[in-house]
Amino acid sequence: MSSFSFQPYQGIATFGHQPHTRDATGADVAILGVPYDGSVSYRSGTRFGPRGIREQSLLLWGYNNALQVAPFEKLKVIDYGDVDVVPVDIMATHAAIETEASQILKQNCRLVTLGGEHSISLPLLRAHAKKHGPLAVIHFDAHPDTWDEEYKSHRYSHGTPFRRAIEEGLIDTNAYLQIGIRGPTAGPQDYLDAKQLGARLITIDEALNSGAQTVVNEIRQRVGTRAAYITLDIDSVDPAFAPGTGTPEVGGFTSHQMLQLVRGLRGLNIVGGDIVEVSPPFDAAQITSILAANLAFEFLSLMALGKQS
Ligand code: MN
Ligand code: MN
Repeated sequence: MSSFSFQPYQGIATFGHQPHTRDATGADVAILGVPYDGSVSYRSGTRFGPRGIREQSLLLWGYNNALQVAPFEKLKVIDYGDVDVVPVDIMATHAAIETEASQILKQNCRLVTLGGEHSISLPLLRAHAKKHGPLAVIHFDAHPDTWDEEYKSHRYSHGTPFRRAIEEGLIDTNAYLQIGIRGPTAGPQDYLDAKQLGARLITIDEALNSGAQTVVNEIRQRVGTRAAYITLDIDSVDPAFAPGTGTPEVGGFTSHQMLQLVRGLRGLNIVGGDIVEVSPPFDAAQITSILAANLAFEFLSLMALGKQS
């Protein structure tokens, strides 16, 4: 039986058919779009990410069989719409993201944010750390994103957010894991930098050789009861499963492995999360947006399991 009184393809495409409102009062989780791709190093197009993911979220029937929870029933979820981005100004865009996110979090409403490229995680981490203190961060990515400067004399871009976040004290580096890292880099220093900054860097080889359960065990052990933020760059998934992204790297997770890793976080104190780098113009048959929509559904499921009563 469908829980919808209409067909899944009917109506305006809010996330999972949840109501659109900019009033987060009484809501448990807000879906927030950030259609910004101003700082990417290669192919652009993630400005269409939130719209693409919302459209492919329409077939989420509602019950998560793996986690045995119905997030849209357990939680009051709203689709808050998008942040007002400024395509020519990353600083103004980041300020707008932080302001909007902080206002939502102040209502005791959690956030699942749909990007947009990965620079947007920095203002999101600022907003969350303001509320919770330094965060455990579970970072799925092909890239460490810990460069100092991606473009000469410019400290903010999608290759630098986690170095900035650590410098700003937003991340508890005892519980910062990067998972799925791979691909050719500028040099050996890229991974060493991430490790020196305190990241537990789990390459794709280590993750696939040891298996999802071992990776999950280590995440759980390091994160413990800390307030944890998940940031999921869709390029952690193999481009065969997620071609719609800006800096694809071959040899990544399958869709199912990604689902297993996220589901393995059940019971952790997940205070927020984002899914970034989905670029619909490079997608094929919407498979990347479909995956991103399902991963957002898994995030909501984790939050629903954590809700008392
Ligand atoms: Mn990446
Ligand atoms: Mn990234």
